[in-house]
Amino acid sequence: MSHGRLEAVIAACQAVLDTRPCGLFADVDGTLSRITRVPDTAVVSAGIKAALMTLTERLDLVVAVTGRGVDDARRMIGLDRMGYVGNHGLERWQEGQVLVHPKAQPSVPMIQAAFRQLSQTVHLSGLIFEGKGVSASIHYRLAPDPAAARQRLLQAIDALASASALRVTEGRMVLNLLPRLALDKGSAVVELVRQHQLRGAVFIGDDMTDLDAVRALQHLRATSDVRTFGVAVLSPDGPPELAQLADGAVEGVDDVELLLGALATRAAKHLPR
Ligand SMILES: [Mg+2]
Repeated sequence: MSHGRLEAVIAACQAVLDTRPCGLFADVDGTLSRITRVPDTAVVSAGIKAALMTLTERLDLVVAVTGRGVDDARRMIGLDRMGYVGNHGLERWQEGQVLVHPKAQPSVPMIQAAFRQLSQTVHLSGLIFEGKGVSASIHYRLAPDPAAARQRLLQAIDALASASALRVTEGRMVLNLLPRLALDKGSAVVELVRQHQLRGAVFIGDDMTDLDAVRALQHLRATSDVRTFGVAVLSPDGPPELAQLADGAVEGVDDVELLLGALATRAAKHLPR
């Protein structure tokens, strides 16, 4: 990404965050942390953590919005003052505990049963099965033939007795199994914007499920006086739709660190604590 383009994204985000009260929402994997071969080994850099720490002190709301479980995201980022939305919008950290969305709560046994059945019936090398309570993820990045593994998994999901009650979303070399509900990163972000009566909201994300948040904020912008800006984090295996639809784009997690660093520096100078 050219230097000028990053500068333009920084300026656009700053303008939105000057509209108080304001919030910053960021995906985790591929946005705040580099995608690793095994999800457990992903880390958030010291630079990004420092920027997030400053931003949580100066902005009205800073929230990680991730497909990971809330506890997992908290472990990775480690900032108590930050907000956490996990499981693709199905749970959040609230008043010291993980709160599963009331609409999703009844689906937990169904998701866990589907996950158990898949992990017991699909035997392919390189798959990582990750049960997360109200959702589940199956990573096929390490499969010898990732495309074939994806096909095999989709067929197995289709064959489940609960298939019609499931929603499958896809990310970078991962299939996510969720209850079929109108809840996603977009609905979660909009709920928080309304709850905190934000007038400015920035979202940063790299993957297919982040598109829901980018779209939801664009809809909010078109139908209310909330100012928003959605940033796509580009990567070779990222979805082209996100790059096309987002309001701006940056190149990889390195640029996210530059972006957050610039926002934090300015916030520390100009915004009251
Ligand atoms: Mg991501």
